[in-house]
This record gives sequence, C-alpha cells and structure tokens, in this order.
Amino acid sequence: MVLQTLNMLKNEIPLQEESFVIPEDAKAGLVLVDINNGFCTVGAGNLAPTEPNRQICQMIEESKKLAELFCDNKWPVLAFLDSHHPGKLEHPYPPHCIAGTDESNLVPALRWIETKPNVTIRRKDCYDGFIGSIQEDGSNIFVDWVKSNKIQVLLVVGMCTDICVLDFVCSTLSAKNRGFLEPLEDVVVYSPGCATFDFPVSLARNTIDHLPHPQVLMHHVGLYMAKERGAKIAREVSFNTSKNL
Ligand SMILES: [Zn+2]
Repeated sequence: MVLQTLNMLKNEIPLQEESFVIPEDAKAGLVLVDINNGFCTVGAGNLAPTEPNRQICQMIEESKKLAELFCDNKWPVLAFLDSHHPGKLEHPYPPHCIAGTDESNLVPALRWIETKPNVTIRRKDCYDGFIGSIQEDGSNIFVDWVKSNKIQVLLVVGMCTDICVLDFVCSTLSAKNRGFLEPLEDVVVYSPGCATFDFPVSLARNTIDHLPHPQVLMHHVGLYMAKERGAKIAREVSFNTSKNL
C-alpha cells in the first residue's frame, strides 16, 4: 500500500534530482542536522528507531563521508544537535534528546568531529536550526558562520528530511532571499544524506497523540517541499574530479 502510494506521489509530485557540481573556486559549507542518537541509534529513546533502518543507516554513512571530506580539507562544518531541557516538551512529540543524556549527542560514527577545529556544534531546542541559532543578544550563530566563512554553497544532510532539515532549509532560503546571507548562492539538499522516521498509519491508529508518518512518503514530500522553496535536491555531489562522493 505504501509503495503504491509512493508511486502515485512520484507521478503527481515528481522530484527531479540532480548531480550537483560544486565549482572549484566556490566556498562550500556542510550542515549536519540532528544526527543525534535520540533519532538515529536503535533503542536510544522515544523517537529512536526500534530496529535497524536502511534509510537512517544510509543517511549516517553518507553524512560521515561528507564530514570526512570536509574535515580532511578543513572546510567549515556546522552540526545542529537537538537538545531539550528536561520538562520542556516539544509538542506533538514525546520527550526526546534531553540535554545531558546520550540521546542529545552525535551518533558514534560522527562523534569524532566534535574535536575538529573546522567544526561548529550548535545545540538547539527547536525544530528549525536557523531559529535555534539565535542567541540572547539577537545575533545568529548560523548567519555569522556563513558570513565569516564566506560560504557560497551550503550542503545540507541529516534528520528528519521533512521536519528539521526542511524547516532549516526554508528559513535559510527566506533569509537568503532577503539578503541576510551573502555571499550564499545555493542551498543543496543531498538526498542520500537525509532520512526521516517511520511511524506507519497502522500503528498511529492506536494512539490519539501521534500523527502517522510513513517514512518513504514523508521523505519524498520533504525533499519536494525543500525544492519548492528553491533548494537544489542532489542525488550526487561532486567537488572536482578527485573529490567525488
Ligand atoms: Zn526536538
């Protein structure tokens, strides 16, 4: 049924994905969205997968490859980590990624980036990393990071395609269109580096609180909506002939 619906969606809202080539003279930045244990590591919490999940495993693998490439070249990386104060709920989701617990940390495959000088870690207590980058004095860590690194091409990967990745991409494109993010030109969502969670309607029927969330459908919709806002959706990303993914 889900596959039939996916085929229907792909007919009705087809998504053209591209091979994006980052020009050799362009400055690229990588944003890792919420690759937290609490969303990605089996059994790690209320919103973690209960069994190994192919889309999430691929997202971690592809994000790790990109992080290695960026760190090897000392290019800028910004990692958002969902991190909530205990007792402060994020409706409609159950408690997750509580600050100070391992749920709010990077997955083991990416933990090593924390000590790299080219990596900025930003813990946030809301869906949208752009909003979550606002500090008490009104400055924005993400905006400052784009400007100080003179980033022209932003690559975005992580969890969840249709929630925190999408919200961040939408806000970033709105800010770019208003001229707040110069010299940023392109926001590229690398689709194999994104994933979302699976909560089929058959399970959701038994609860009143949780919306159904079929993984493959919502992943497609998330990418489609990012493209609607002006993001480029890339199946492949290449930097130059020697540094392809
Ligand atoms: Zn959260």
